[in-house]
Amino acid sequence: MISEKEFSRNLSTVKEQIEKACDKYGRSAEDITLLPVTKNWSVDAVKICEVNGIKRVGENRVQEALQKMESTPGTDYDLIGHLQSNKAKMVVGKFSCIQSVDSFKILDKLAKIANELNVKQPILLQVNAGEDPAKFGISIEEVTEVLGKALNLSSLRVDGFMTIAPYDPDNNQTARDCFANLRKLRDAMSEIYNMTFKDLSMGMSGDLNEAIAEGSTMIRVGSALFGQREKNQ
Ligand SMILES: *Cc1c(COP(=O)(O)O)cnc(C)c1O
Repeated sequence: MISEKEFSRNLSTVKEQIEKACDKYGRSAEDITLLPVTKNWSVDAVKICEVNGIKRVGENRVQEALQKMESTPGTDYDLIGHLQSNKAKMVVGKFSCIQSVDSFKILDKLAKIANELNVKQPILLQVNAGEDPAKFGISIEEVTEVLGKALNLSSLRVDGFMTIAPYDPDNNQTARDCFANLRKLRDAMSEIYNMTFKDLSMGMSGDLNEAIAEGSTMIRVGSALFGQREKNQ
């Protein structure tokens, strides 16, 4: 786990990178939320965020996140990892946003549970906008139908869309194309359903410039803030 000092330095570097990208692409840094991804790190990673005034983080495993929540009541958690339907009852009302809604099945399950709990659960639809066979996400062609269904579920609130770009570190155009696809899709859905869908959660440590260029409103940053870490270490 990195020291607070190192974290502050990394945070400044990432913020500068965001500001530079915003200058370059005519965006305002205020319109971009930096979501630190604390997965695979202990709860101390969340506490370091709190010390630096950041009260919202992303986690990709349900159990790991629920554990951290217990000792960090002041922080909101977004779920950014694939959700199995048998875990749906553990997440509704607990996560400030479920960004990884990627099927009819999970949509139904979440809606039913949110109904029972009498909460309105914010969600994003995860789209496989880079058509990457290795990624979860609704295919671009299916989004109109899935979104239509989601909008009829009164216990869910669809704030926008999330995507993960295909891994292609030698060619950042791949990520940029993926993010452009998601933005165009959002614009088309806004037309069709006459709604804003303000959130575009796209961009990570390695492709946040491309994401900002294409209209990202939330970048999910792990390694650039906390360093690299082996899984399950
Ligand atoms: C791990 C993860 C991130 C952060 O990735 P980094 O490359 O470490 O910034 C972002 N989004 C999702 C969905 C992740 O699982």
